[in-house]
Amino acid sequence: MNTPIAIIGSGMAGLSAAHALTAAGLCVQLFDKSRGSGGRMASKRSEVGDLDLGAQYFTARDRHFVDIVQQWQENGWLAEWKPALYQSHGGQLSLSPDTQLRFIGVPRMSALTRNLLGELPATFACRITEVFRGEQHWHLVDATGQSHGPFSKVIVAVPAPQAAALLSAAPKLAASVASVAMEPVWAVALGFDKALDTPVEGCFVQDSPLDWLARNRSKPGRASRPDTWVLHATSAWSRQHIDLAPEAVIEQLRCAFAELIGCAVPEADFSLAHRWLYARPAHAHQWSALADADLGLYVCGDWCLSGRVEGAWLSGQEAARRLLEHREHNS
Ligand code: FAD
Ligand code: NAD
Repeated sequence: MNTPIAIIGSGMAGLSAAHALTAAGLCVQLFDKSRGSGGRMASKRSEVGDLDLGAQYFTARDRHFVDIVQQWQENGWLAEWKPALYQSHGGQLSLSPDTQLRFIGVPRMSALTRNLLGELPATFACRITEVFRGEQHWHLVDATGQSHGPFSKVIVAVPAPQAAALLSAAPKLAASVASVAMEPVWAVALGFDKALDTPVEGCFVQDSPLDWLARNRSKPGRASRPDTWVLHATSAWSRQHIDLAPEAVIEQLRCAFAELIGCAVPEADFSLAHRWLYARPAHAHQWSALADADLGLYVCGDWCLSGRVEGAWLSGQEAARRLLEHREHNS
């Protein structure tokens, strides 16, 4: 019997591992606490259109990732994003063009992970709280107390602080994962019925509560009206204001935006705030993936590598590679 492999987390890392394992002829079962796949490559459906609140775009530098990105582009799941790119230093806004290729899911960022999910078996709205090994197989328990299994192996593909809690079966692994700190980010979306009078479409920001801003209508496939923007606060500001009410976060970041954008910014006609508790790893690691291969427990995620979409995909590939290698070795 081909006992399935459980994958906890259906963000880019979990989906990457799932693809590699199914391509090798193995069965997988994905679990995610959210109502859909994608994790931090999320897009929020709103009255002003889809808003990419997490990952804004991604780059491809690794040769294998470049190849897969090309395939996704040929499938029509991705487009290149070529914004009028600016930077802001000490309140000075300047054009900052470059030749970097940047990709986005179309018509929203989450469309890419939705396409990657395809027909893979997945259980959503299912927060896994316990991962334990019986005599022969693994079992999972969710937040409602329901158990799932049996599974031959488990891949944990969630942010490090959430992964550590699921690794009590492998204390050494749990200790390494628990040492990884992740930083928060407040994201705010603003919508203006009358378009702002600025050529800016994307901006890397320094010396401000803001770190980044993007204009949605510059992204292929997005609605052009109203004029919606996504602002990301720095992790330092987000940490300091972690418990601030969303309305206050919106107001403070709107003011920071108005200060740097160089045109009149009226009250927004639409606004929302989203707090990412585990947005990015505090420090870079070069782990690719972690495992207790003899036990059959694997861990992957962006935090094992670059803290970016590319790192998440590579980490999922590596977890799957190590699982397949161990399986081959022991067959
Ligand atoms: P995630 O996407 O976090 O996936 C983990 C999944 O696990 C989630 O779906 C979650 O619901 C699920 N989960 C967690 N715990 C449990 C549990 N107990 N049981 C079941 N399911 C669980 N990267 C870039 O390359 N470019 C960018 O511009 C960029 N901007 C970003 C901006 C922000 C605000 C944020 C937050 C991230 C950004 N990133 C960016 C990073 C990028 O989004 C991540 O690197 C990547 O999406 C991480 O994928 P992942 O699969 O490792 O984790
Ligand atoms: P990238 O090459 O576009 O950017 C990397 C970094 O280089 C930028 O953060 C910026 O500081 C700088 N940079 C690049 N082009 C620039 C330009 N034209 N002018 C001025 N500065 C420029 O993309 P990447 O390496 O794939 O990184 C992805 C992006 O994702 C980064 O901006 C990173 O900060 C962001 N990210 C954000 C979070 C979060 O939680 N907010 C998490 C992970 C990654």
